[in-house]
Amino acid sequence: MSPSFPSRLHRGLLASTALLLAPLGCATSSQAGAARDEAALRTDEAPRVKPRWGLVIHGGAGVISRENLTPEREAAMRAALTQALQAGHAVLAKGGRSMDAVTAAIRVMEDSPYFNAGKGAVFNHDGVNELDAAVMDGKTRMAGAVAGVHHIQNPIDLARLVMEKSPHVMMVGDGAEAFAQSQGMPLVDAKYFYTEERWQGLQRALEQEKAKEAPPAGSSLTPGVDPITGDHKFGTVGAVALDMEGNLAAGTSTGGMTNKRFGRVGDAPIIGAGTYADERCAVSATGHGEFFIRYTVARDICARVEYQELPLPEAANHVINDVLVKAGGEGGVIAMDRQGHVATPFNSSGMYRGYIGEDGTPTVAIFQQP
Ligand code: ASP
Repeated sequence: MSPSFPSRLHRGLLASTALLLAPLGCATSSQAGAARDEAALRTDEAPRVKPRWGLVIHGGAGVISRENLTPEREAAMRAALTQALQAGHAVLAKGGRSMDAVTAAIRVMEDSPYFNAGKGAVFNHDGVNELDAAVMDGKTRMAGAVAGVHHIQNPIDLARLVMEKSPHVMMVGDGAEAFAQSQGMPLVDAKYFYTEERWQGLQRALEQEKAKEAPPAGSSLTPGVDPITGDHKFGTVGAVALDMEGNLAAGTSTGGMTNKRFGRVGDAPIIGAGTYADERCAVSATGHGEFFIRYTVARDICARVEYQELPLPEAANHVINDVLVKAGGEGGVIAMDRQGHVATPFNSSGMYRGYIGEDGTPTVAIFQQP
């Protein structure tokens, strides 16, 4: 983690709840024309008479600087987020289930090379892509998760198979892949996940590691910081949705953190840490997973909604911009409650995120301030 990190966190603390969703910069002119005013998307804490169905997504949080994001890349990432929102909306608009909307949106981001999940996942220390994912259904509290898989094109689909076709919640490594095959899910060659950009990211991280002494356990040096640009972006993808029936679902998928070692598993597949949904509240997280695990971030937010009866945005903002900031944990969440209120707080300089509601107008944003 760079030395300036605490001040970034401090800025995050001072920032708003961060439901600031910028107008689409990339989309077709008709989409851009239809982009809503971001002020209209500020968190509405007033109780709603009629729940408002919709979908919220993220494509990772971290130090994302305007200088290092070329206009072409920004446009491509906004386009991919828009496509993911539209895939989820198509499900919900037909009366489909929130779980189907979540997996439809996440598949789009897993298939995109721009996000750290599926194609485009970061490399671990051994030069291998090692993927984690989870889903949770708020109505039934059924959940499924996989960790450390290497040959699964869409880990989110395997997580769902674990939930629906096994008596278990979590499977890892070879066992998870054997289960995939037993369910007719093909394995893909590990080469499928290769992208030059992520490979170079690993090379830089390895060089940095060689140049410095290994950080002591518990140190604040975050794996994944690019020593050249100083940027680090966690890049996990996730979605939460509320369907017309009033049921919530959450899902998260990731390649974890660049240069991770020894079978490290992050928060994304840990139910209650990076992914959680119940009948009131659904959360998907992105950030420095070790903190999200130790602070059980996703469940903590939903527990505050349940026990303290806090409005969702207040609960989410408190955990991300107070509890986590004090702990030194960087990242953010997307969250929805059963009335369709939305929160997207993050304590880093950016989080790729988007929202689509009943009117079908996709809105995406990256930075704290547009
Ligand atoms: N939370 C993920 C992990 O720690 C990283 C991310 O959000 O990109 O594995």
